[in-house]
Amino acid sequence: NLSRITETFSESVIREMTRICDEAGGYNLSQGFPDFESPKAIRDAAVRAIAEGLNQYPVTFGEPELRAAISRKVAHYNGITCDPKTDITVTCGATEAMIATLKALINPGDEIIIFEPFYENYGPDSILSGATPRYVTLYGPDWHYSPAELAAAFNEKTKAIIINTPNNPTGKVFSRTELEEIAALCVKWDTYAVADEIYEHILYDGAEHVSIGSLPGMAERTVTINSISKTYSVTGWRVGWAIAAPEITQRIRKVHDFFTVGAPTPFQHAAAEAMSFGPEYYEDLKSHYGEARDFILAALRQAGFSCELPRGAYYVLTDASSVMERLGLTDDTAFSRKLIELTGVATVPGSSFYVEKNKGSRQVRFCFCKKWDTLEAVAAALTTKL
Ligand code: GLN
Repeated sequence: NLSRITETFSESVIREMTRICDEAGGYNLSQGFPDFESPKAIRDAAVRAIAEGLNQYPVTFGEPELRAAISRKVAHYNGITCDPKTDITVTCGATEAMIATLKALINPGDEIIIFEPFYENYGPDSILSGATPRYVTLYGPDWHYSPAELAAAFNEKTKAIIINTPNNPTGKVFSRTELEEIAALCVKWDTYAVADEIYEHILYDGAEHVSIGSLPGMAERTVTINSISKTYSVTGWRVGWAIAAPEITQRIRKVHDFFTVGAPTPFQHAAAEAMSFGPEYYEDLKSHYGEARDFILAALRQAGFSCELPRGAYYVLTDASSVMERLGLTDDTAFSRKLIELTGVATVPGSSFYVEKNKGSRQVRFCFCKKWDTLEAVAAALTTKL
């Protein structure tokens, strides 16, 4: 007789695939985290913070140094003006920022709009916050949405729309025109935009990242979520944040406090230092991932997967139909397991990015934020063992 709500969603397939991969000693191209070291300067900063005794509770909603650094960085890179005293909540990763934001916004009966395929957390996030999700399809291979379908998803019950750009799992980077269109719908229907911008610095082929919170009229109705995880390759530190107008922030802070009290103190101090990196750091990150993308895409195509070049983030959602057919498989989960067995390469089954699981049953997602040795070994395994 345990909680019924927890029966309505399953454990994360992404995290499960990491465990399966670890047991098999495989190459983890499933969960999105790098297998190379994070920058030494910020590891040193974390060690220093611990040695200097920054080991007790942080200010619940974020150490002042970090909130000041976030505010400076978003003013420079995102065109977002925010007051660190009233507009920022530091959370345990973007993961907590998202659920705390939805908890702060949602009343029973409210709807939220989610583009599909979606990062799998958004499903359980909506269930746990009590929101009813409405899905708007992103159509491959270029992952466009239909403006008419988007407009039709809004109604008087719509409380929020989640926009993840650059997008996981598709690699779509929402254009300024698309974001203006979404913003106009948010204003029309008095809806909040919740922007998950965790891949903002991972862009290819000159793609531009636009923060919807920087568009006219959107500051007061946007919650901008981000984290140090992907930008500085420290996914285990669990430091993220939500930026929002004071009346929303007050509510996010309350939820955050009772859920977690705070994000780890020493890592908040190290995060503040990371934010002072100059533009060359972000340029290097982009160029490494750009080369990794081109290399892995070529190997995937050679192995029989069909896929388009992602424009941002570090995933590629492939159509695996022809490889599956060759192996006599019709189900993405069975295929993912077979792939580990045959090649040692772990992926995420496509169905975990869809509410109607059959829509992803011919797809698998590969993550390419890996060092060259790993990428080369993966390419060799995929092109010779399948
Ligand atoms: N965003 C990462 C992915 O999609 C995983 C993040 C996580 O597991 N918290 O793989």
